[in-house]
Amino acid sequence: AVAGRTPLIAGNWKMNLDHLQAVAFVQKLHWTLKDAKHEDGSVEVAVFPPFTDLRTVQTLLDADKIPFALGAQDLSAHDSGAYTGEISGAFLAKLDAKYVIIGHSERRQYHEETDEIVGSKVKAALKHGLVPVICVGETSEDLEKFGASAVPVSQLSVALEGLKADADIVVAYEPVWAIGSGQAATPEQAQDVCAKLREVIGEKLGADAAARTRVLYGGSVKSANIASFMREPDVDGALVGGASLVVDEFAAIIRYQK
Ligand code: PGA
Repeated sequence: AVAGRTPLIAGNWKMNLDHLQAVAFVQKLHWTLKDAKHEDGSVEVAVFPPFTDLRTVQTLLDADKIPFALGAQDLSAHDSGAYTGEISGAFLAKLDAKYVIIGHSERRQYHEETDEIVGSKVKAALKHGLVPVICVGETSEDLEKFGASAVPVSQLSVALEGLKADADIVVAYEPVWAIGSGQAATPEQAQDVCAKLREVIGEKLGADAAARTRVLYGGSVKSANIASFMREPDVDGALVGGASLVVDEFAAIIRYQK
């Protein structure tokens, strides 16, 4: 992380916590963080509940003036119409969602989302005023064959195709082998790939975008390793799965010290 880019700590709940559990969780997290620095805006905290929780969490954040940003875990590439089961970015924006995760490896793997689909979802998010959190990362086979950065770099190049220079985006580098495995990447690898992803942003959207866009690391982030990632100049925060479901652990990640 460097000055000028506000660190973002993002909790991807995946398919966990129903809307009742979400209320209890967000209240406890807010209470635990009462004196923490996210209250003064030096760290941004975002939660990404399942779709069915969004309205409930939005109402709670609003009523109790809780300074967490709200995000969704996916969206449709379409605006509206005959797409049974899909959720439009327009609907998410109406619920005050600020962010939307796009291209998480679980979507790429279980829902066959290609780089092109990811690209069209990124455009849909931007069209509706949402900030896409674009996920890229290599599998362990990719790592063996091509090294760490080749696949994430090519995934991001496709995802950024045709965007305007002022597009407000977040990029998350998540090595697939590190997700939920307990085996995080080393800070050096995260830095190396995040720096290369920043170069891609520079090539596609220009130097200003490269300087301003936050690039997160994700994959087995916990309170014991967050500081080591945040010390790296090109890592501007974390996308946290499992550890974002445990109040004390997620609060400790948000309170990381450099
Ligand atoms: P994890 O998941 O923190 O449980 O490894 C990260 C993610 O999938 O975003």
